[in-house]
Amino acid sequence: MSISPSEQRTLLLEKLRRLMPLMKGSLALVELTCGTPSCRCHTTGPKHKGYYFSYRLRGKSHTVYIPKRFQNEVKQAHAHWLELKRLLEEWTASEVQELRQKAKPSTKERKES
Ligand SMILES: [Zn+2]
Repeated sequence: MSISPSEQRTLLLEKLRRLMPLMKGSLALVELTCGTPSCRCHTTGPKHKGYYFSYRLRGKSHTVYIPKRFQNEVKQAHAHWLELKRLLEEWTASEVQELRQKAKPSTKERKES
């Protein structure tokens, strides 16, 4: 069963409402050396692992370190961004579908021409 473009958009709006918190950017797991010179990470390793979040603001790139206690929160917010991108694609496809329907001449018009 197919749904109308307007019904589709109502569903998309419902989904959008749930995408909070949201962080647009990229999340990277990187290896780090700490501030303690005697720590194993400065010699034989292994190094510490930490998450960095990169984002753009008014055309400028920024990167912030994400402390361990916020990692899950940021991962979730970033997953919401990926979901938003996917929903916007669906939204666009739905708009295109509607434009196509509007462009189609109605049965009546076809008979007349
Ligand atoms: Zn260390």
